[in-house]
Amino acid sequence: MRRPDQNRGARMTVHFQSVTVLGAGTMGHGIAHACAVAGIDTVLYDVDLGAVDTGLKLIRKDLDKIVSTGELTEQERDEVLKRIQRSSDLAFAVQGAQLIIEAAPESMDIKRGLFRLLEQRVGEDTIFATNTSSLSITELSAGMDHPARFLGVHFFNPAHEIDLVEVVWGTSTSDVTLALVVEFVEALGKHAILVQDSPGFTLGRLGIVLCLEAIRMVEAGVTGPEEIDKAMGLVYGHPVGPLKLADLAGLDVQMETAAYLHEALGSEVFRPPELLERMVAEGKLGKKSGQGFYSWDEDGRSVEDGQSDEGGPSDEC
Ligand code: NAD
Repeated sequence: MRRPDQNRGARMTVHFQSVTVLGAGTMGHGIAHACAVAGIDTVLYDVDLGAVDTGLKLIRKDLDKIVSTGELTEQERDEVLKRIQRSSDLAFAVQGAQLIIEAAPESMDIKRGLFRLLEQRVGEDTIFATNTSSLSITELSAGMDHPARFLGVHFFNPAHEIDLVEVVWGTSTSDVTLALVVEFVEALGKHAILVQDSPGFTLGRLGIVLCLEAIRMVEAGVTGPEEIDKAMGLVYGHPVGPLKLADLAGLDVQMETAAYLHEALGSEVFRPPELLERMVAEGKLGKKSGQGFYSWDEDGRSVEDGQSDEGGPSDEC
């Protein structure tokens, strides 16, 4: 079992003071939120500036909720928001970044393309991290000039709330990179677990099996989504059931992850069910499209039970 070289990390006393998050969607805006709350200057970049603005609105909304509980003052909220710069200009976004966290779509080509492009534009100490749920860290780093500075930093959704991050090392990731990123995760107030690069890492691999089996049961008419989710809560203590989690993560993301694991691990348990493929083809992507196994209103509440997803942990199912 690999352990980060904590002494080396401590001796270097490097604390990331400037982080760039690439992709402002479900995960990217939550990661930017977590960084800014921890006092880190953060750039939130997306190819679509509208996505950055939506992400910033969501961050403000989440911070307002904390203000309403009295845990944060309005002034502190404004300071957090000031720490986040918006950008759709890649060169500007990565200039001076000590750590770049990529949260772009789950595509080997998009992610590889981004990292190759960025290597030419950043300093020698910049560390690259990917928030991929399932793609191989070692494969993603193929073709990079400095794969020692590359690793996975897998946040869970909502990234600003969930206290666990999988820190995933590929065959070339250096001990220094690992130690610095573990230190960064801890600076965000989160726990890091070290994971060797393998398909689906730990929780993704376990969770997707539960998700796909739940979808197969709905497809076969065994029972409904709400019943499954309620049962998992009452009996196994899951704060959010597998089908609501799938809606929160995005059914398109789930389908891509399942297809990848099906191929990578060669097991039929990961084959995407027809129902999932059909829902994605129909644009029923879960919370982000307003419809999935549940119907979602503009405030992020599932219409069926009138409850917001707020406060409950969630991730790819
Ligand atoms: P998303 O679709 O919500 O957001 C992706 C964003 O990336 C979009 O705003 C899109 O405009 C932007 N984008 C597209 N091309 C880009 C590029 N070339 N450079 C920068 N941005 C680009 O996706 P998401 O759910 O936030 O997932 C992002 C990553 O995080 C994926 O790798 C996914 O597997 C992983 N992940 C997702 C979850 C989850 O629950 N959704 C959990 C953990 C990890």
